Parts: sequence; structure tokens; C-alpha cells
Amino acid sequence: MQKTCKNCSQNFEITDSDLKFYEEIGVPSPNLCPDDRAKRRMAFANQRNLYLRKCDGTSKTIISNFSSDKKFPVYAVDFFFSNDWDQLKTGRDYDFSRPFFDQFNDLMQVAPKIALQRSPSFDQNSDYTNYAGKNKNCYLIFDSDKNEDCYHSYSINSCISTMDCFRVSDSELCYECVDCTNCYNCRYLQNCDNCRDCYFLKNSIGCKNCFGSVNLRNKEFYFFNEKLSKEEYQKRLSENLHSYIKIQNLKNEFQNFILKFPHKAMEGIYNEDVFGNYLIQCKNAHDCYDSRKLWDCKYIQQAFDDAKSSMDCTQVGDAVEQLYECCYGGYGAYFNRFCSHTLGQSSYLTYCYYTPFCSYLFGCIGLHHQKYCILNKQYSKEEYEILMPKIIEAMKSPKSPLTRGLGHPLDKGGLGDCEWGEFFPTEISPFAYNETHAFDFYPISKEEILEKGWKWKDDIYEIPKVEKIIPANLLPDSINDIPDDILNWAVNCEITNKPFKIIKPELDFYRKMNLPIPHLHPDERHKNRMKLRNPKKLWNRNCMKCNSKIQTTYSPDRSEIVYCEQCYLALVY
Ligand SMILES: [Zn+2]
Ligand SMILES: [Zn+2]
Repeated sequence: MQKTCKNCSQNFEITDSDLKFYEEIGVPSPNLCPDDRAKRRMAFANQRNLYLRKCDGTSKTIISNFSSDKKFPVYAVDFFFSNDWDQLKTGRDYDFSRPFFDQFNDLMQVAPKIALQRSPSFDQNSDYTNYAGKNKNCYLIFDSDKNEDCYHSYSINSCISTMDCFRVSDSELCYECVDCTNCYNCRYLQNCDNCRDCYFLKNSIGCKNCFGSVNLRNKEFYFFNEKLSKEEYQKRLSENLHSYIKIQNLKNEFQNFILKFPHKAMEGIYNEDVFGNYLIQCKNAHDCYDSRKLWDCKYIQQAFDDAKSSMDCTQVGDAVEQLYECCYGGYGAYFNRFCSHTLGQSSYLTYCYYTPFCSYLFGCIGLHHQKYCILNKQYSKEEYEILMPKIIEAMKSPKSPLTRGLGHPLDKGGLGDCEWGEFFPTEISPFAYNETHAFDFYPISKEEILEKGWKWKDDIYEIPKVEKIIPANLLPDSINDIPDDILNWAVNCEITNKPFKIIKPELDFYRKMNLPIPHLHPDERHKNRMKLRNPKKLWNRNCMKCNSKIQTTYSPDRSEIVYCEQCYLALVY
């Protein structure tokens, strides 16, 4: 059946198997389209902005993704998991005369949150990382595990000396690479595997010493898809790499060059019955992205290994099953609905936020290792089992006092008639929308954000305390002419005018790799890498070679040539 999104008015489809899932998990069919649902979930996580603040438990200065102006307590990771504070102090009775989300919002204002999504005891010298683990000497990397000497990257795993990358794994000495694995000493690569000593490649595998090329397999000394002698290749290479201006021109030239070559409709391997992009070892996964080992899943993004029978999840994984509208959770999680930040063996949770290692909770915030709580108040198993269904029933009733009329301050999005089945409204997120993961993917203006009744934060970026700030265009063009003094300055971003600092390991990296100093703030660089990737959205099209029907993340108005998998493979092999 077709439904119309109550937010953006676009139609979206609900299939019979979707309805079966909703029935199994005990929820009504959604009122928002998949995109608006993802956006709403992701508005409850700030992954990439970090602030210095006090731990409200120990008064020590800590780093957190919660800025110091938040009203609720924020606890350092170790303190949060200690027994030195009373978790149930914020518990309160459920009030059947008030909407659930209003009561949840009240609890949000007082319940403690955990400072970071990582375990400092597993990291070495990697204070400025988050949603990350087992990293050594890393700085400003997020959603990333098991890296060493890596900086300014997102979703990198098992990498060494790698910088400014997005979704790169098992690689070393890589710079400005996106969606690559097993690469060594490579710069400006996208969608490449097993390459070494390459520059500006796209959709290539097993290449060495190649430059500016597309769709290569096991090639050496290719320059803009032309085979050269070793001597000629080395001559052209040295002509091109010493200057910031030349690199920018090459980037533009390469983005035009790739349009001459066919692209594969979908990226993925070892899959059966899947639609989406960047899927590995998945079966029956529809509208899923950047994920591995999904089985009977739909509308999932960034899932790590092994998720089964789940819908509408973002960043969940490691043996999870039957999750609906959940994000930033995993490790054996089972039957959770509308939950965020519930990492670590959490099961049978409904409407919970920051509740790791818990089970059988409803509407709880900032608890760990707890069972049978509602609004942070402890109940016996029997009491819980009687009260929880009553609350759900009350939330379902459109005639109950829980119904918000139009114009209710928490209902500017114009959501459903009842609360049950809706994820937390963005208005009650503890983060400003422009701090969140949602803003990365669905950026909108400050005016639009405030108009929707969401929060906006002006002072996300700390102005570095430095001797001087120099405009990026006054930087020497070549890294060889950059003095050590740059470590005492800040550079003014060419696009946003936001000043940013270069740290010593970064400067060492640029010098070692002979790379010019970037002219853009790390956030702009991150945004530019994201722009290289397709949206997490599918369009029905036809293969531009054989005309067979394809579902692809290349919208019909894009300029790339798009082939079905068979036609693409026939072309490159
Ligand atoms: Zn929508
Ligand atoms: Zn085809």
C-alpha cells in the first residue's frame, strides 16, 4: 500500500512483508517516509563535535560531545559506569494525564548522559575521538576502530597513518580516499581495492602506479586511462604533484573525466536479493547502505557485522535482531524499539536513550545494567508487565489526553495522531540539529531549523588561541615552503572563514607524503568527501547498455553513465 509522508508529503510504499514485521514487533505502520525517519533518528547523535567541559560526577575536565551549556549532568565514561551515583534518583511515576514525550522530555533535562561513546581504557593517546575504539595516536576520527596515527577521518577501520578519509579500511598512508580497502600510499581514490602508489583513481582494483584513471583492473603505469612506459609515467607524475593549485585543477579535471566511463548501478559483493549501496554478504536487504551481513533487513544504514530481521536502524550491529527505529546500539541487542545509544547487550527496550547493558526498560534515560524500569523508576517484573502495556495503550489512543492538537509545541512536524509508533520528536533532542549526524546528511539552514522548533548552536567551533590567523590563499603553494611556525598559527578556511589549526603529526604527515597544506576547515573537507558519495536513496532506472531494469542510487538526472552489474563486469574484465 502507498502512504503519504506526514512531513514531506511524498508517497512511500508499505509492502505486505513490512506489515508482517510491524505486527511481529507490535508497532503501527510509520507515518513518515524512510528518509524522514532516518533524519529523525540521526538527530539524537552528535558524532563529530567535541567540547571541553567538566564531568559533573568528578569535576575533572573531560572531552565530550555534550557541550558545557547542557543543563543535565554529563559523566565521564568511567564515572558513568561506576556505582558512585544513584541511577534511579531521577525516577518518576508515569502520569496518564500527560503525553509520553512531554514526560520523556522532562526526564531528558535531568537524567545524566555519558560523555563519550568510547572506552578510554581501550585507547591510547586518542582523546579527540568518538564512536570509536581501540585506536592509538588518533585525532578527530569518528565511527572508527583499531587505527593508528590517523587523523580527520570518518568510518575508517584498521588503518595506519591515514588522513582525511571516509569509509576506508585495512589501509596505510592514504589521504583523501573514500570507500577504499587494502590500499597503500594512495591519494584521492574513490571506490578502490588493493591499490598502491596511486593517485586519482575511481572504481579500480589491484593497480600500482596509476594516475587519474577509472575502471582499471590490475594495471600499472596508466595515466588518465592511457598506458605509458615507466619512464614517461614518472615524468608526468612529477609534473603534477607539487602544488595546491595544480592538485585542485586535477581534482576538477578528474571529476569531469570520470563521466566518460560507465559506473556500476550498485556497489557490493557476496549478496543475494539486495537493493541499496555498499553492501557485503547480505541477504534479503532492501534500501540498505554501508552495511555488512544483513539478513532480512530494510532501511538500514551503517550497520556493522550481523543484523537480522530489523528495520529502520542506523549504526547498529554485532549480532542484533528484531530492532526497529534504533540507532547507535548493538552487541547482542534483541527486540528494541525506538532506542538510541543502547550499546551492549540491551534487549526488550522501548523508547530508551543512553541505556547500555539494560533490558526491559520503557522510557528510560542514562541508566546502565538495569531491568524493569519506566521513566527511570524501578518496578518489579510483575508491576512492569502490567504497567508497560497500559502506557502503550494510552499512547495509541487518538482520543486520549496524549493527543497533541495541531500547533502543540512538540508537534510542529505534524506527526501522527498518537505517539505510539513514532520515534522521539527532534524537538526534544539534547543536541542542536546542526551538531548532529542528521545535519551531516540532511543539512538545512539555521532559519529552517528554528522554524521547525529545533535547536541551533552558534558556537560549535572554538576559535583556536593562536598568535595569528592567516588566510588560506596566502599559504605557500608547496609544502616545501611551509615553515614550522605554522603550528602556532591558524589557517582561515577559504570557504567558511572558520580558522583551523594544523597539529604537529599532521604537518609531519603532509611533509612525508609531499602534500600541500589544505585550505579548507576539516569539516568542509569532510563535507566534500561526503559529496563524492551517492545519496542513500534508490531510483528505478534502466541500464544504459542493455536497458534492463535497475535500482540505483544514481538519480536519473545525474550525468554518470550507469550500467547493470552484468554489463559493468563485462566491460571491465
Ligand atoms: Zn518524508
Ligand atoms: Zn545492462
